[in-house]
Amino acid sequence: RKLEIIQKKDNVINAYISLDSEDFIREKIMEIKEKLASGKNMKIPGLIVSVKDNISTNFLPTTAASKILENYVPPYNATVVEKILEEGGIIIGKTNLDEFAMGSTTEFSAYGVTKNPWDITRVPGGSSGGSAASLSYGSADLSLGSDTGGSVRLPASYTATVGLKPTYGTISRYGLIPYANSLEQISPMARSVKDVSLILDVIKGYDPRDATSLNFEYREFNEKKFKICVPDEFIEGSENPIKSAIYNLLEKIEGEGIVIEYGRKFDKLNYALSTYYTIAFAEAASNLSRYDGKLYPNYYEGRSYREMSENTRKNYFGFEVKKRILMGIFALSEGFINDYYIAATKGRRIIRDEILKMTNDCIIAGSVSPILPPKIGERINDPLKLYAMDIYTVVANLAGVPALAMPAGFYNGLPIGIQFMAGPYEERKLLELGSFIED
Ligand code: GLN
Repeated sequence: RKLEIIQKKDNVINAYISLDSEDFIREKIMEIKEKLASGKNMKIPGLIVSVKDNISTNFLPTTAASKILENYVPPYNATVVEKILEEGGIIIGKTNLDEFAMGSTTEFSAYGVTKNPWDITRVPGGSSGGSAASLSYGSADLSLGSDTGGSVRLPASYTATVGLKPTYGTISRYGLIPYANSLEQISPMARSVKDVSLILDVIKGYDPRDATSLNFEYREFNEKKFKICVPDEFIEGSENPIKSAIYNLLEKIEGEGIVIEYGRKFDKLNYALSTYYTIAFAEAASNLSRYDGKLYPNYYEGRSYREMSENTRKNYFGFEVKKRILMGIFALSEGFINDYYIAATKGRRIIRDEILKMTNDCIIAGSVSPILPPKIGERINDPLKLYAMDIYTVVANLAGVPALAMPAGFYNGLPIGIQFMAGPYEERKLLELGSFIED
């Protein structure tokens, strides 16, 4: 049934890069039925899951939306993919993204832009725009994205879906094609907060194959009391319809165990974007050096290794990827590393300390994006305007804390999201608050 929906809609929306065949899915359904009949307990039997195409699958190509990985089928599955299959999920296809997850609109994909199902002249957000769109037009029940600086929360807010960036280290990155390792987490998406809880429960947990994976438990949360603080910096710079939607929602939920405090200060927000982008570019430059024409199948000929490598990169990487590699190398190079990369790591520490202090006392609420979903083409040529869309989301990645994006309302038919940030391992608290709002 979901395949029918995709066949009808995806030639317009372009949420998927690759899809399973009908036979493959039928076979999977049979397998799950047999397992159920033999009494096996599964958490998501028969639920349809779409997976961002930078997460490795050995049964479908994994391109990271780059030409350099066109038709590349990894020899193994990401840990999260194994877990989904184990619990009865059916992975229906791989979703579109900005090349190597570098972007906020899905316009940087080498496989065409994804359109926002709520208004096909607008972007669905990025970089997990394909995942968000796949949920929003009903082709999947659950989805996996990755969030380095907002890549599940921004698209969730632009498509009226839900995305959670979990605490750093709590979801295995094994099999995720890396962009900026110290910032990113594979992250669950769905159409409701309750469904996000369901899939988070499937994919979380320690994995010896990821060196940054933690042995941990999410903190239990039983009391139905929440203290929310709303620093001006996290909302006041947003477009008016966004501010109204968020203030209205907060006003509605105030009382009944929810206390809201306005006017807290977070004056470090000014540093967030430069800190984030410096670190992200530096890590990207280092990570992308593996695409040298030798390690992965696609390459261009050259008379020497060096020339072959140059030709391969020149012809297969998109403009934004090349730009980020160059800027990352610059930030790391002798003579500049202190003023750029090292300075950014200090900025990160300052932001992290401040956020830990604040989330120790309350859940931080604010906007996900300062603007409504832009028109396709509107922001793509102005990098500073494009990067500015991430101002509120990059903070949680720099601090390593969990952050939830969920619907707050609509303006002229366009979705608006709200973001909640909590302390490390407080996913349950965020999800409790989210499902309370949802009801
Ligand atoms: N837009 C941000 C960037 O381009 C975040 C992307 C992401 O979270 N993967 O770096």
